[in-house]
Amino acid sequence: MAFETLFQSADWKAEKHVPVIEGPDKMKKGEVVTFRVTVGKEIPHPNTTEHHIRWIALYFAPEGGKYPYELGKVEFAAHGESVEGANQGPAYTQPQTTFSVKLDRSGILYATSYCNIHGLWQGEKSVTVEA
Ligand code: FE
Repeated sequence: MAFETLFQSADWKAEKHVPVIEGPDKMKKGEVVTFRVTVGKEIPHPNTTEHHIRWIALYFAPEGGKYPYELGKVEFAAHGESVEGANQGPAYTQPQTTFSVKLDRSGILYATSYCNIHGLWQGEKSVTVEA
């Protein structure tokens, strides 16, 4: 089985695992623009010691380019763990983050995320960069 077939995707309004990228459709070359990536935007994903989102990463694939560029990766490390036991802890990191980026050409942003029991998921968003 090819590795890429392990990435699942779906309509984010009906599937809680899909990382949703929010931000402008158009930006100016060299302008710093912030994109928000959220897992569970419409239907919250569980955030428990046993079941949670571990990380979100964002990539950029420029139009006509061969290689993707990793823009960043955020790990969500607190899911209710504690010495009292699972889900008794005082802290939970929510699976959402922002990335502020500059782009000098148009392309596609790809967000990937990992659920500790439901695996790899992806979402994407096209961005037009104007000179
Ligand atoms: Fe899950």
